[in-house]
Order: sequence, then C-alpha cells, then structure tokens
Amino acid sequence: MTVTAIVGANWGDEGKGKMTDVLSADSSYVVRYQGGSNAGHTIINSYGKFALHMLPSGVFYPNVMNVIGPGTALDVDVMLGEMEELLARGVPQPRLSISERAQIVLPIHRLFDELEEERLGARSFGSTKRGIAPFYADKYAKLGIQAADLYDEALLWKRLEQSLEAKNVLLQHLYGRQPLQPESLIPELLNHAEKLRPFICDTTTMLHDAYTNGEAILLEGQLGALRDPDHGIYPYSTSSSTLAGFASVGAGLPPYAITNVLAVVKAYSSCVGTGPFVSELEGTEADELRRRGGDAGEYGATTGRPRRMGWFDTVATRYGCLLQGATEVALTNLDVLGYLDQIPLCVGYELDDGTVADQFPVTAKLASAKPLLQLLPGWQCDISHVRSFEELPEAAQQYVRFIESEIHVKITIVSVGPRREQLMTIL
Ligand code: GDP
Repeated sequence: MTVTAIVGANWGDEGKGKMTDVLSADSSYVVRYQGGSNAGHTIINSYGKFALHMLPSGVFYPNVMNVIGPGTALDVDVMLGEMEELLARGVPQPRLSISERAQIVLPIHRLFDELEEERLGARSFGSTKRGIAPFYADKYAKLGIQAADLYDEALLWKRLEQSLEAKNVLLQHLYGRQPLQPESLIPELLNHAEKLRPFICDTTTMLHDAYTNGEAILLEGQLGALRDPDHGIYPYSTSSSTLAGFASVGAGLPPYAITNVLAVVKAYSSCVGTGPFVSELEGTEADELRRRGGDAGEYGATTGRPRRMGWFDTVATRYGCLLQGATEVALTNLDVLGYLDQIPLCVGYELDDGTVADQFPVTAKLASAKPLLQLLPGWQCDISHVRSFEELPEAAQQYVRFIESEIHVKITIVSVGPRREQLMTIL
C-alpha cells in the first residue's frame, strides 16, 4: 500500500506540482488536503504550461481520481475556471471528487482579506487576498459553510445569518462599509451548488476504500514547511498546516497510512511575500538568480510578484525536512545554478548574541540573524539534458551530496528542468 505525501520543505514554490504531475502517472488518487487558491502549482507537459491553484495536479491523467479533501479552502470560481481552461486547452475531462465536508471560500472572506490588508498598510502580512485567513478564522470559529450545506437552503440561510452578525459590526465600524445580508450571497451559492453537484461526495469513505484496496494515493501539499502556522515563521505563515502530519487529517486517511513523505527542496532559496528570510540576496546577485530561474517562474504563480531570492539554506531546509518527517527528498532546479563558478550555501545563522545557530530559531530571533556562508565549486555548464546522477559534472554531484549530508535525508530525485522528463532518480 503506498500513500505518499508530496510536501515542501522550504517556503513554497519548490516544484511540488511538477513532482506530483510526474508521480501521478503511477497513482490512482491525487488529493489536495489543505489551503485554497492562494498558491499555484506550475506544471509543464504535452498539453502546455498550467498554473493550478485549486485543482489537484493529477488532472492531466485520465486514470487518476483527483480529490479535494475536507481540509481545503474550496474557491468554487477558481476551481470551475481552471476546469474550463483545461478542457479548452485540450486536456480530457479530469476525474474529480470534492468532499462534502470541504468548506467554501465566500466572497466575504475575500473582501475581509482585502480590507484587512488595506487597514494594516505597511504592517500587512503580504496576503494573496484569496480570503484564506478569514476563511480559516471562520472555520475554527465554527462559522464556515460546508459543501453539503449548499444543498439545504434553510440551513444555508441560518449559517450565513450567524456568520454575518459579527462581520457586519466590523464592516460598518472598523472598515466603514455597508453591512451584508444573506440574500446578497445566496443566489451565487445556489448557483455554485448546481455546478458542484456532479463532484460532491463522501471522499473520506472513498479514500479509505482505496487505501484498504492498496491503491497508490498521493497527498499533495501546498506551500512549504516554513509557512506552517505552528512550526513555521509565524505570523508570516499561512492559515492551514502545510505539513505531511496534517495530510491524513485534511485528506481523511488514518495517520499510519502515510508511509512515504517526499519533501521537495529547491537547490537555492526563494520566497514570496513578507517575513524573515535569512539567506536573502539583494541587488544584482538576486536579479541574476531570479533571471536565471526564469523558466522556473521566479515570479509567484498566484500573485505574479517577483520572488525573493537566496542561496540554499541548510538550517531552514534541515528544519523543514524534520518538520515534514521526510523519508526522501526531491531536489529541484539544480540546472538553474549552472552559471556560477562558486556556489554559496548558508550553513549557519549568526545571532545577535554572537552565537551561531544550526537549528532554526523562533521568528523573534530570525529578523536579525545573518547567514554564515560556505562556498562550493560550481559546474558552469548546462545540465538540463542529463538523466542520470553519474553523468552530472563532479561539482554538481558534490553539491547534491553536500546538501544531502546537511539535511540528513536521502535525495532520491534530482530535477534539472521544469519538464516531466527532466529528472533523474538516485537509488
Ligand atoms: P510548487 O507550488 O511547489 O508546485 O512550485 P511552483 O509551481 O510555484 O514553482 C516551481 C517552478 O519551478 C515552476 O515554474 C516549475 O515549472 C519550475 N520547475 C520545477 N522543477 C524545476 C527544475 O528542476 N528546474 C527548473 N528550471 N524549473 C523547475
């Protein structure tokens, strides 16, 4: 029985979409278990280039059942728009099931996200304004709307009335806006209900049956370990757990079902949004790395914002792998570093008190931490065509082995380009 979680060990954008797309070929189920449309997974295959925000990355394989689990923040418009785009671009109708317990992102969540970012101004957290923080706040305040609620109009009214009571006080008195009534939200929700009808089901039983029958299941994480609200760079974190440990909860599988945790790690660092980023580069060095990573889309797939760039960070990545419980690592974007004659890596954090940390510190200590760099020789050539580890230049092999020894997890896959076939496995 193989249940594999594919998760990020950095700040997100590690290339999880590509890895999920590749591994989907031999899988029966691909499950999104957390987050919503606030991050994009870029996939390049024979149909073209796609940025999926809401749909699982298995949608390009007719053999795969794609599942949107109960732990997600379901943005119906985004999901339907993506489905439409896939069909328009020649992808066969994907198989999709949405948990009846998945909760719905409401227009009011997006509105609150925007209003709050506006109110915070310079103190804002760099939200993607997809309504994710207000959505999860509502969920845990027990004010959310489950997909199943859409099919019971009386219940839907009651739930919305309850949810809008406190929000209207904030709308009027904190944000200076008009209050909202359920009747302004109901028609769109009922319309969504009809469009969602073919997909909504009890995905928990479906996945348990699949697990019992020994089917291969992929659980697809969004963002990365350092954005986890409990263990990451809080409050510059996201609002749902990005960890493999949460995958069983958010998908609806027993915790012991997940036997493989494939942590995706990027050969250098990048980060979208605000928050401490110790190995961050400035100026021309950053521009050069961003430009070289052009194919790697060093502009946020959701926001189009240029990503912040940095050297590989062994402290953060070791911690990220530890948080994920990584059983193996896929190292991506190695090809991007081919222009450097020497490659710096961050191997420690110099803290305010003069000590050097090799364990990832709490956010309060991160802001003033300085990177301690070590140089490794570069390989200065294009490796994007290489398909076996032994054929990589000696310096590239050395770089991979160095990272492996620093993060304490075996690297089993090295990716050297955005396309499906641009990778090698290491036994
Ligand atoms: P995800 O959210 O983790 O799936 O990552 P994103 O899709 O946001 O960003 C990863 C980017 O890197 C995408 O543009 C991918 O097409 C690209 N990519 C993935 N693997 C590689 C690789 O090995 N080399 C290069 N150059 N690009 C890659």
